[in-house]
Amino acid sequence: MNPFVYVAQPSRVVFGAGALRHLAREIELLGAKRALVLSTPEQADSARRVAEMLGVRAAGIFAKAAMHVPIESAREARDEAKRLGADCAVAIGGGSTTGLGKAIALDSGLPILAIPTTYAGSEMTPIYGLTEGGLKKTGRDPRVLPKTVIYDPELTLNLPLAMTVASTMNAIAHAAEGLYAFDANPVIALMAEEGIRACAAALPQLKADPKSLDARGGALYGAWLCGSVLGAVAMGLHHKLCHTLGGSFKLPHAEVHTVILPHALAYNASQAPEAMARISRALGVPDAALGVFDLARLHGAPTSLKAIGMPLEGLDRAAELAAQDQYPNPRPLERVALRALLQRAFDGTSPQP
Ligand code: NAD
Repeated sequence: MNPFVYVAQPSRVVFGAGALRHLAREIELLGAKRALVLSTPEQADSARRVAEMLGVRAAGIFAKAAMHVPIESAREARDEAKRLGADCAVAIGGGSTTGLGKAIALDSGLPILAIPTTYAGSEMTPIYGLTEGGLKKTGRDPRVLPKTVIYDPELTLNLPLAMTVASTMNAIAHAAEGLYAFDANPVIALMAEEGIRACAAALPQLKADPKSLDARGGALYGAWLCGSVLGAVAMGLHHKLCHTLGGSFKLPHAEVHTVILPHALAYNASQAPEAMARISRALGVPDAALGVFDLARLHGAPTSLKAIGMPLEGLDRAAELAAQDQYPNPRPLERVALRALLQRAFDGTSPQP
């Protein structure tokens, strides 16, 4: 066995249908008395429900979370937390809302209690992102890792099917890249394979019945594992490409992950055979890249960058940006090959090495 380093990310996970009922207990365990509840404007009702459940322990609601954490909303939320004397942030929503909580925690050290309602996985990572002047910067800081996470599949029943599929593919991407990370380890590999299996198994069930609590539970369990992988090991080409495409061309986060993943896996396949074997096994298919491509396609997710708003004339610049900074990746970053990868992703043709 190869030598490895494993660092556990300390967080408390409470999982189960109806688990939100444990909120008061969990806030008490954190020792918090004045929680600021965060959400997007679209999920303000959920924030109000959480505040009601918290009663006197709710200091207020800030329902202005937005994609990629614009610095202006982070500053406003930080000011609001100070003004209210908040001693905890409760984030109910997807990665955008958790991200806002992280922006507050980065500044103040306030503990976060996260209640995820998508499969993005941010709640399991010490990674934060902030967007200033159109540029998204990310970093790692243990202070931003939520202390407690309540996973309640009931809260995901209303996630629209299209977003459900894209968000599940986003989760699978974390685990897939974790399997070939330069700092991978056997514990994380177990979580990654099981995470991919659980996510992929949930998709046909969710397509048949988006309100199936059983399937929602399976997807959320998979998302937890995949998010844990993202939080524990370094990501490679796929995540860097998605970061570039999302940041420079404003493409929607989960969808860009869905489109790029098969192509990034095909690019790396020859240099990461063990990872590919584990992904194939988790999906129950002979080829990892084709397997994730078909998984997205068969469940109605977008399979081309064209369909999600990428301009054709942006492909050269995207390839340039992607090849610019070198970082650990199974296969070296070659501009011409990356440009070809992006063209296939743009057209939505099947992945090729
Ligand atoms: P999101 O949080 O932006 O949510 C998208 C929309 O769906 C929002 O309007 C939200 O209110 C709504 N929504 C969320 N859950 C819902 C539900 N159950 N029912 C109905 N509507 C719901 O989307 P996301 O994909 O979860 O997160 C994307 C963001 O998270 C990106 O900015 C990405 O960079 C970040 N992210 C960060 C990390 C990390 O580790 N730091 C990890 C993954 C994603």
